[in-house]
Amino acid sequence: MNKIIIVMGPPGCGKGTQAKKLSEHFSLPHISTGDLFRDALAHETPIGLKAKSYMEKGEFVPDEVTEALLQSRLEDGDCAKGFILDGFPRTVPEAEFLEGFLDAQNLGIAAVLDYELPDAVVIERIQGRAQHDKEAGKHVREDDLKDDVIKKRIAVYHEETEPVISFYKAKDLVFPIDATHDVETIFQESLKDIN
Ligand code: AMP
Repeated sequence: MNKIIIVMGPPGCGKGTQAKKLSEHFSLPHISTGDLFRDALAHETPIGLKAKSYMEKGEFVPDEVTEALLQSRLEDGDCAKGFILDGFPRTVPEAEFLEGFLDAQNLGIAAVLDYELPDAVVIERIQGRAQHDKEAGKHVREDDLKDDVIKKRIAVYHEETEPVISFYKAKDLVFPIDATHDVETIFQESLKDIN
């Protein structure tokens, strides 16, 4: 059976880690629009160059640019059995776009996992992680280092992405998960909700 799982939650909630674990567990591709954008930017593709200034400011890339990027990835053969979607949709128009795309192929969403984390913990986690990575000499995302950019990403999350959760709640697809717990506990909770 076809499995489409969406992971949602504020920046730093650990949804990327969970998406990766779910992807391995179910042998489904992990589709992260943030990763697709960073990759496009690294290769200086037209989409990457269009996205650059938005990403640097912690703003969303315009819907039509994001949708074009996502659609071309979802049309790859490895997505035919389903996929784990991480970082999309982040706006109601993006959610409507996804619905149209899936409807056209007679596909449906299995679950929307909503990893909940208070704002104060979000800031602490992102900065803590960035600092830790920097000290370890690892590559650190520019948008994880600047206080004002982190605050902007949280504000944009409340304004634009929380309505997406309401959109899916109305369809009875949302499973709230307490993201203050450790990675393994959250993963077990995620599996329970999906099954
Ligand atoms: P992320 O790694 O998911 O935090 O994404 C990094 C950046 O890519 C975001 O701050 C946005 O600028 C952009 N981005 C990723 N996904 C989306 C999306 N679904 N809609 C608009 N912009 C996005």
